[in-house]
Amino acid sequence: MPTALRHRIGPELVGQPVIERTNPADPTQVVAVTPDGDERTVDEAVQAAAAAQPAWARLPAPERGAILLRAGALMAGRRHAVAADLVREEGKTLTEALGEVDRAVEILLYYGGEGRRGRGEVVPSGTPHTLAYTRREPLGVVGIITPWNFPIAIPTWKTAPALVAGNAVVLKPASITPLSTWHLAQALDEAGLPPGVLNVVFGPGGKVGGAIAAHPGLAAVSFTGSNSVGRGIESVVSARRARILLELGGKNPLIVLDDADPAVAAHIAAASGFGLTGQACTATSRVICTPGIHDALVDALVAEAARYRPGDGLLPGTVMGPVVSPGQLTTDLEYMAVGAAEGGTMVTPAAEPDGQFLPPTVFTDIKTSHRIAQEEVFGPVVAVMHADDLDHAIDIANDIPFGLSAGVVTNDMRSANRFIDRIQAGIVKVNRPTSGVDPNMPFGGVKESSTNTYREQGSAATDFYTWTKSVYLGMDH
Ligand code: NAP
Repeated sequence: MPTALRHRIGPELVGQPVIERTNPADPTQVVAVTPDGDERTVDEAVQAAAAAQPAWARLPAPERGAILLRAGALMAGRRHAVAADLVREEGKTLTEALGEVDRAVEILLYYGGEGRRGRGEVVPSGTPHTLAYTRREPLGVVGIITPWNFPIAIPTWKTAPALVAGNAVVLKPASITPLSTWHLAQALDEAGLPPGVLNVVFGPGGKVGGAIAAHPGLAAVSFTGSNSVGRGIESVVSARRARILLELGGKNPLIVLDDADPAVAAHIAAASGFGLTGQACTATSRVICTPGIHDALVDALVAEAARYRPGDGLLPGTVMGPVVSPGQLTTDLEYMAVGAAEGGTMVTPAAEPDGQFLPPTVFTDIKTSHRIAQEEVFGPVVAVMHADDLDHAIDIANDIPFGLSAGVVTNDMRSANRFIDRIQAGIVKVNRPTSGVDPNMPFGGVKESSTNTYREQGSAATDFYTWTKSVYLGMDH
């Protein structure tokens, strides 16, 4: 039976469920049905949030944090059910989905703890008998727009710091993954979050997301998704002088140096290139090899690709789920055709899709000028490229508009340090997959991958959702 969802506005669940989301592993199965929100729904949500926010901000921060801690415990207790729903609507494997739900739990617990830490500084004042200190104030009501590829982790890592800092939220999840986000709202509701502090509006991006970007009652908008949509939102939000955070696409390189073990390097490349069906912003999509390892790495990567047979994520033993949607499948197939037409050599068997199941593809002979070396595919497609040496490999890695995550595989610390120094990426990995991050580390990209003003996750995440008040407290008069 599909789950019927409604907008969550203040204390009410409203709207008739009419939009169906089907299972990418079996499109005949309807997983969830949501209402079709619009500008008016967003306005009602903003009004509910504005009414609830002052009392929420007055609540002591440790009490706000305690609600997040309780929500984390509730979600941990139902992790299998939440993960199964996530698999059915997004297509990840159950193991991947459990990892994502566990990450959402960790994020709730981490920001629950932030309620007891807080931020600010005390500095020596130039005026006698004066205490000079800063405090962080909540922005008020903030809008959050999230993508489908981490449908519970991303809404959680945006919402949790916003809430603990004392803001109220209007959240719009991706249309094709409403159910996972609903689980977050449900856990917070059961944990005691006052009505109106978190409002969820479902519906198409152009209507609901556009209305969030434009709404004058939203002091900030945090968006994760594609570059084209993100830059459009940025111009609308910036024009009304509200705060904006964008986390966008990636074209993440993994450099493999001659001294690496090819089997280990291929394992790292495959984990990030084919894991999560290649549908991660931090996925490895370019593997750049120095001459002595190129051929051995290609052989090992082709062997790895053969292990990633796609299947229904709920079936035991499945290592890679289906492509999320027919639209994304079309994109993947188009890029595979472009890669071949531009002179790439497909070294894996021709990837014939079966429904939305698509085996991985490895291309060799890819040059920087090729489109699959420059543009985000967002599917299980990896381009292997030649480099003369480490510096040439770093030049190739940097020769793109994106700068999200980047990795190197080497046992040589001098090479690793040179890579860390020169690479243009917000997240840098040595001997680790380009995807996968800790919730207590800052997360975000440079160049076209991000607004690169504020970071998400870690203690830095609350900076975006707060402003600094500088206080001079005279001890006498
Ligand atoms: P998307 O198409 O840009 O959608 C993202 C969100 O924006 C969805 O909620 C979508 O709603 C909404 N939206 C669509 N059109 C809109 C508009 N005109 N105005 C306002 N909102 C609008 O991206 P996606 O396909 O969901 O996600 C994949 C992309 O996200 C990839 O590029 C990936 O790299 C990026 N991503 C980046 C990060 C990061 O942290 N850097 C993390 C994950 C993903 P609908 O679903 O209703 O269309």
